[in-house]
Order: sequence, then C-alpha cells, then structure tokens
Amino acid sequence: MKELICIICPRGCHLTVDDQLNVSGNTCPRGAVYAKQELTHPTRTLTSTVRVVSELEAMLPVKSNKPLPKEKIFEAMEVINKTCVKAPIKIGDVVIKNIFGLDVDIVATKNILR
Ligand code: SF4
Repeated sequence: MKELICIICPRGCHLTVDDQLNVSGNTCPRGAVYAKQELTHPTRTLTSTVRVVSELEAMLPVKSNKPLPKEKIFEAMEVINKTCVKAPIKIGDVVIKNIFGLDVDIVATKNILR
C-alpha cells in the first residue's frame, strides 16, 4: 500500500494505491492515471533557464515540451546548464532538440528579441 498526493490540480487529493495498482482517494480519473504512472514510470515537466547572449537579458526561461522520465531530470539539467543561446528568441523556439533521444525538446518560454 502506498500513499501519495495528486499534483495534477491544486485540490491535492490524498491517494492510496494497493499492490494491484487500484487507486482510491481520487476525486477525478486524472488522479488514478497520475498515481499509476507515478508508481510505474514517474515523469516531470522540467522548467529552468539557459544563458542567453542578448542586449536585454542574461537568462532565458525554458521548459520541456513533454514530461521527462524523472530519472533523467538531473542529467537534463547538466545539459541545460551548459547551454547558451543567442537572441532573437521567440516563445516555443527549440533550444535543445530531442534531448537524450527521448522525443522531448527544451523550448523557450519567453520572447527575447534582441
Ligand atoms: S484526483 Fe483529480 S481533483 Fe484530485 S488533485 Fe488529482 S486532478 Fe485534482
């Protein structure tokens, strides 16, 4: 039996999962999906910043366009910390393509136009 808190929405339901992955305590079906994934293949959307060569800013906020396997987050941060891009950058521009071959891109979340 495992207990966890659903992080899908601010309600934060307290979930209980038995050994057969039956979920209780969820107010909606998304909680059951989250609990099963968290216990079998946990993932996280990564948000961070990369250095940018710009007249206006020193750092560009970025995020993964899909959730990454949780065990890859620290390795992804190492790649992100070594990355530097040059303005102009627009929201959605790919900063790191297909990181680790996982079909996940790291994309800009802010316009830095010069
Ligand atoms: S189970 Fe549904 S209502 Fe409860 S926190 Fe998760 S998403 Fe929100």
